[in-house]
Amino acid sequence: MQNRVYSEQFDDIYFSPEDGLAESEFVFLRGNDLPARWRGREQFTIAETGFGTGLNFLLTCKCFTETADKNAQLHYISFEKYPLSRDEIAAALECWRDELNPYLDDFINAYPLRVPGFHRVQLGHNIFLTLIFDDANKALPELIVPRGVDAWFLDGFAPAKNPDMWSDNVFAQMARLSANNATFATFTAAGFVKRGLRDAGFEVRKDVGYGRKRERLVGCFASDAPEQPENFPTKPRVAIIGGGLAGTSCAYVLEGLADVTIFEGADALASGASGNRVALCNPRFSAHRDENADFFTAAYAQAVRTLSALGAAVDYNRTTTLNLVTDEGKEKRFADVLQNWGWHEDHMSMMSAEVATDYAGVVLAHDALSLPDSFSINPHKLCNVYAAQADVRLNTSVTDLIRTGDQWLVNGEAFDAVILACGIGVLRFCDLDALELYKVRGQVSYISETPTSKGLKCNICYRGYLAPAQDGVHALGSTFTKWIDHTDILDDDHSENIERLSTVLPDIAAEAAPVNGWAGFRTSLPDRFPIIGGVPDRESWQNPKNLRSARTTAGNDLPYVYISAAHGSHGTIGSLAGAHMIADMLLQRPYSLSHDVVESLQVNRFLKRDKRKGRI
Ligand code: SAM
Repeated sequence: MQNRVYSEQFDDIYFSPEDGLAESEFVFLRGNDLPARWRGREQFTIAETGFGTGLNFLLTCKCFTETADKNAQLHYISFEKYPLSRDEIAAALECWRDELNPYLDDFINAYPLRVPGFHRVQLGHNIFLTLIFDDANKALPELIVPRGVDAWFLDGFAPAKNPDMWSDNVFAQMARLSANNATFATFTAAGFVKRGLRDAGFEVRKDVGYGRKRERLVGCFASDAPEQPENFPTKPRVAIIGGGLAGTSCAYVLEGLADVTIFEGADALASGASGNRVALCNPRFSAHRDENADFFTAAYAQAVRTLSALGAAVDYNRTTTLNLVTDEGKEKRFADVLQNWGWHEDHMSMMSAEVATDYAGVVLAHDALSLPDSFSINPHKLCNVYAAQADVRLNTSVTDLIRTGDQWLVNGEAFDAVILACGIGVLRFCDLDALELYKVRGQVSYISETPTSKGLKCNICYRGYLAPAQDGVHALGSTFTKWIDHTDILDDDHSENIERLSTVLPDIAAEAAPVNGWAGFRTSLPDRFPIIGGVPDRESWQNPKNLRSARTTAGNDLPYVYISAAHGSHGTIGSLAGAHMIADMLLQRPYSLSHDVVESLQVNRFLKRDKRKGRI
């Protein structure tokens, strides 16, 4: 007898205790005529309702690698409302370790934090999992799959025990998302499932069930949607303008999928806002679970798994961040965040000042919102690691960006696509005058470790931040000055950082002696949310009648020009999520962020807002 994984909540099992592996293969792979249907395909997309332990996913990875064309890509999308822990998954699948490896170990290492929303996990060079921790009913309408889903695995516990997973809403969304001739397979033969799928437009037939089950349903979706012509190169040439985190992260995500050239005007990567020695990684907190919260949740979780894997090469240093509750506003906001964001308590919790003091190793007078997965990295090293495989052109300012035929000429050189990732410099390349991008100078003070500060083990965030010492020096940040237009180190800014520190850690502040500092400019927008996505052309900027929606790929954007900018103080996490999103748009992959988040990141949110206000 194999492992038995049982859900008390649904009074049902995750997979057959006799032989889950063989059942999964029979019901879902063979039920969808796999592997035959992915042979000869460059990309194949599967969507599953009910991720559970990931058994179906891991089995599919193995089978795909063994049988699909070399370099073909598998996109696997799955929904899970009640994510198991990493340890629970490892225990459940231990008995098939040999059969499922190396995928099982890789997946366990890359398993997302248990926080709601979209998570993109890449295994090897060709397997892309979009794991969505949410109710399938709520999340399916948020999913964008430009090339459509080719095969559906319906695996959401027995319909009688969990009817929500077999709702008409789910079936209608399946129809919306299906590619031509998409198939589905499931273990059940329940009458209402059969009728629901038929009503949604699927051809449904009964086939023999696995083991003791007599029957199961399989079928296909006959859509008359025209096939999208594939006129974009499979491996496009992409020019990235800007060698900071926003640009180099795109190069990293596109590694192996595009030929990337980075143009950087300065003599080194990370010369602008990304040149700081230490960056702490924290989401930006908003009280409600809105699009901003979902973006920063996904971005933070993505950064945790990607940058921890890069490890010492980027000075990755896992360090709990304590966000101090310094006033009533924060008390209310953090309480709201804790309640509304829905993060598992392993990843976010409130701590009393007493417990926080124990944790931090220095005396804290304030309660704190604790993020134990938080970390710091060296942005300069990170940019260089990100760009390792790209063709990097330093000292090369881009002066000309011209459309000719199907291509863009960048300083006279031809590219299929362009990513604008040069901070406020993006304004040089597009007519985004109405966009109120601005620069904010920030100075970090590096202060010597003292006997009082030596014990500090956590990142402390208040209106500034203090990081544990590395090589005897703490990073103490950071000023926000819109009105200063140079990056010289200023004594006044050191004083301001120390003054702010004195409000939460007066003993450390009293001894603080800056040894040096670093100053740079962040780019921001009035709503303090980045812009990531396509760039509206001049006409739609001036006359935004038919603004593009994230769901449609055609529209009034400059063809194959993308932007990633205005990351403010959250560039380490925001830029990486942005890079995945831009790669998804460019390569027409399933989107790694929800529809509403994608919409909220678009440049055209300002057009819509201005239109509403009657400004244009
Ligand atoms: N495919 C899984 C595997 O390979 O281990 C087994 C899936 S198990 C039978 C069903 C899964 O659906 C459970 O993990 C359960 O938590 C999840 N689930 C149930 N209702 C859900 C809903 N409304 N939205 C998303 N997931 C749901």
